[in-house]
Amino acid sequence: MEFEPVIGLEIHVQLKTKSKMFCSCSTEFNAPPNSNVCPVCLGLPGALPVVNKEAVLMGIKAAIALGCKINLTSIFARKNYFYPDLPKGYQISQFDKPLAENGEVEVLTGERNKDGNIIYNKFKKFRITRIHLEEDSGKSIHDKGDSTLLNFNRSGVPLIEIVSEPDFRSSQEAYDYLVHLKRTLQYIGVSDCNMEEGSLRCDANVSVRPKGEEKFGTKTEIKNLNSFRFLQKALDYEIKRQIKVIESGGKVVQETRLYDSSRDMTFVMRSKEEAHDYRYFPEPDLLPLVVEKEWIEKSRRELVELPHQKQKRFIEEYKLNFNEALFLTDTVKVADFFEECVKLSGDSKGCANWIMGDFTALLKKEKVEIDKSKITPNHISKLLKLIKSGNISGKIAKTVFEEMFKSGKDPEKIVKEKGLSQITSEEELLPIIKKVIEENPKQVAAYKGGKEKLIGFFVGQVMKETKGRANPQLLNDLLKKELKK
Ligand SMILES: [Zn+2]
Repeated sequence: MEFEPVIGLEIHVQLKTKSKMFCSCSTEFNAPPNSNVCPVCLGLPGALPVVNKEAVLMGIKAAIALGCKINLTSIFARKNYFYPDLPKGYQISQFDKPLAENGEVEVLTGERNKDGNIIYNKFKKFRITRIHLEEDSGKSIHDKGDSTLLNFNRSGVPLIEIVSEPDFRSSQEAYDYLVHLKRTLQYIGVSDCNMEEGSLRCDANVSVRPKGEEKFGTKTEIKNLNSFRFLQKALDYEIKRQIKVIESGGKVVQETRLYDSSRDMTFVMRSKEEAHDYRYFPEPDLLPLVVEKEWIEKSRRELVELPHQKQKRFIEEYKLNFNEALFLTDTVKVADFFEECVKLSGDSKGCANWIMGDFTALLKKEKVEIDKSKITPNHISKLLKLIKSGNISGKIAKTVFEEMFKSGKDPEKIVKEKGLSQITSEEELLPIIKKVIEENPKQVAAYKGGKEKLIGFFVGQVMKETKGRANPQLLNDLLKKELKK
């Protein structure tokens, strides 16, 4: 029997506001422990929350970008549970009346080959159930022997929770959706989505069912997935585990599991019997949240081009393939850099190749952001023109590129200074060819005796003499002519 996974995702994203959700404390990440706290976010008795309008506006922006319908009135609710890093004994969230509902996103997704390149692909729509506003808890640090330290700087930091419908049918789709969500939220500037700093966290619901079956199987929840790769690996493990349970005649138990990346497996955190009942009720200290229509319209007007729109345009306008479109829309900075290059050079494929290949490798190696690099779109455009005009070979261009990356000099200048121009004149190249032929009588005899493959040897020798500067076509023509003599 063939099985099909059914996956839904719940994502917590930290909003990029300067101050917290219900007080004016700073949200700065690296502040000394417990320095950004006040009676409100410490949950002291009698302290009253005040809603951060900026957080609401960012939530609206995200909801619009993710195709959701915004509720003009939404209600804050108390989610009750005890935890040492939750001093109030409840978290202010939204429950039956969230900020936004019924969204839909269009995601470029597809199966990958071993190198990570898409082999099968399409734009697929995934539905979003709801987006609600809430506050973060504090942080417990358990690494001091048997004691636990508490840092309340994070307590009250604004979050949105984005809940998807169970629309994903493979771990790859879930991964691609997450990438898309991250890009979208970064494009519109509402979150850094920095997983190391915890500003994007993900829980996944997963079940399996026989292919063709409509009814969902029993699901498990995998909590606290802190990287996109781990999400995918955890899902792959959990899908296989559930299929194994069913095939061996067992039943999947509804439970919450955690993923251990060092052993690449999931394990039980708590069963359904131990699950929380949060006893939600409307937050008595806050009035219903009423969104003004003008805020929504303003957000709509200010909406930038979103990742899937950019991808479609790049494919159409620049004749890029799916991989190139996906790669070059990673951030607005990369996309803008690419477009500027194309504008100057008119060569979209050439620009895509340089940016995705040598440039990205160097940026990664030197840990530099694309807009902080010494290489500008103008440099790349000039380099492409030097190659096109036959002034330098593709191989030399790589050397020039590295030098440009280091010094920020114009490629023409580098070629001139280092004498890297291609040799395209017969007068200059012929003496070198003759010299190589003279110095290798044995190979010449073998070539003339029928070992035509030796042409490569002579090409190599001439390239060595000219430091790779000989024009390949001219070299080939001249060499064959000379060897016939
Ligand atoms: Zn505070």
